[in-house]
Amino acid sequence: MNTKYIFVTGGVASSLGKGIIAASLAKLLQARGLRVTIQKFDPYLNIDPGTLNPYEHGECYVTEDGAETDLDLGHYERFLGVYTSQANNVTTGRIYNTVITKEREGAYLGKTVQIVPHITDEIKRRMLLLGQTGDYDVIITEVGGTVGDMESQPFVEAMRQLQWEMPEEDFLSIHLTLIPYLKAAKELKTKPTQHSVQELQSQGVHPDIIVCRTEKELTPELRRKIALFCNVKPGHVIQSMDAWSIYQVPFNMEAEHLDEMVVNKLEIPDLPVPDLSKLKSFLEKLAHPESEVNIALVGKYVELQDAYKSIQESFVHAGAANCCKVNVITVQADHITPENVSEKLSRADGILVAPGFGARGLEGKICAVRHARENKIPFFGICLGMQMAVVEFSRNVLGWADAASTEEKPDTKHPVIDLMEEQKKTTRKGGTMRLGAYPCKVQKGTLASQIYGRQMISERHRHRYELNNLYADELQAAGLHVSGINPQSRLAEIVEIPEHPFFIATQFHPELKSTPEHPQPIFVHFVKAALNHKSNKKS
Ligand code: GLN
Repeated sequence: MNTKYIFVTGGVASSLGKGIIAASLAKLLQARGLRVTIQKFDPYLNIDPGTLNPYEHGECYVTEDGAETDLDLGHYERFLGVYTSQANNVTTGRIYNTVITKEREGAYLGKTVQIVPHITDEIKRRMLLLGQTGDYDVIITEVGGTVGDMESQPFVEAMRQLQWEMPEEDFLSIHLTLIPYLKAAKELKTKPTQHSVQELQSQGVHPDIIVCRTEKELTPELRRKIALFCNVKPGHVIQSMDAWSIYQVPFNMEAEHLDEMVVNKLEIPDLPVPDLSKLKSFLEKLAHPESEVNIALVGKYVELQDAYKSIQESFVHAGAANCCKVNVITVQADHITPENVSEKLSRADGILVAPGFGARGLEGKICAVRHARENKIPFFGICLGMQMAVVEFSRNVLGWADAASTEEKPDTKHPVIDLMEEQKKTTRKGGTMRLGAYPCKVQKGTLASQIYGRQMISERHRHRYELNNLYADELQAAGLHVSGINPQSRLAEIVEIPEHPFFIATQFHPELKSTPEHPQPIFVHFVKAALNHKSNKKS
């Protein structure tokens, strides 16, 4: 069988959940035995989202190979349980960068370099790249942005060309739109969808299937109307209603026969029906929690829902594993002071201090760590959260009042968190952090080893600063132990306080590898510790 290519575009509005639809379809095809991956093409000029503030673009998701990518790749990995890589996320910036670099090298000598064919050729090359590895039967490509945007035109043009360059049965296009409900008229409106499909068709791309996001059920007449006006088969207009969990969406898409339409159009014969039993049992646990727990997420980008996406999802997975509903209460680090910390965190059965960059909110994070440490509330720090746990301990237990990370105070006399040696040479900001998967050796007899149940682990990273090993012995003697280290560089990866019921912090980002079917163990144990803390509080 040739590799099959499915393209997902969006229309009418952004944030319709193209990533979830793409991931749900991929899940259904995978559950039928196909090897599937998803890639995202983003229409902005940054080479990658690594240099974007989370307020601009939500979380930056890091892959095993150290690519800084769009948060939709997190959804792809969580749904499929298969790793993605740099090749799975391409931006307009990366495309132009390649073409312009080649131009300077003389690759197009004598020729005028243009959007068509040079930029579109480079887009097509990258759209086909993963398919050529032989590792996949199906490649789903999500085209970021909204059809009609100036920015996404070259991507749509590349799709248009590809649809004629490959056999008809190898190419499929899905368009996701919104059907708004007008309360005053008590009616669902199809006009924006008609316009969006017209726009796509005017660019030469013909959707095979239209997926409609809607708050209300689409009637058969409405589906027929959309099909008629949009030139698709009557059965090929399907609905995607708001779901109670994103992990319910594959089941909703199955009920709408999306996977069936796709395998028929792509002429993939003899496939079994999807086996979604593992996801189903996860969803059942999620739907029927036996208890409830409050986790405070202390961070600086809390106003934006997507800024801590992977952490939020990890709590969904860890909650189900504990048959418990986890309420993640976000707390703006900036607003926490020594005076109000008990009140701000009064409802928390567990406290997580989030990753981050820059000085804003650091003092609030340190207050939150102190509150958790002194009141024996389960604590989990991630990356900057770990670094602030070390600073807090140094200040308030070791008595080094000026202890700090040099990210905040370059001149401190106690630089307990300092820039990594290799980072001192770099001035460029894009893609230069310590990124991706590195091994970590877990010390025997520690909380970390109890959690992981093995000695060698591998987790993903995104940082420039580290625990300054000059202080490790003094921290250890005072009660803050390094329980995981990188075997080559000796970099401290995990710290914990054995005296505390549950106090653990990691330099790596464990949230990036949690999936519904394999919840991340630190999150699972943290939720369990929070549950224990809650029941001890009562008794
Ligand atoms: N700003 C810190 C560093 O660069 C922490 C980074 C993070 O939390 N991802 O080391």
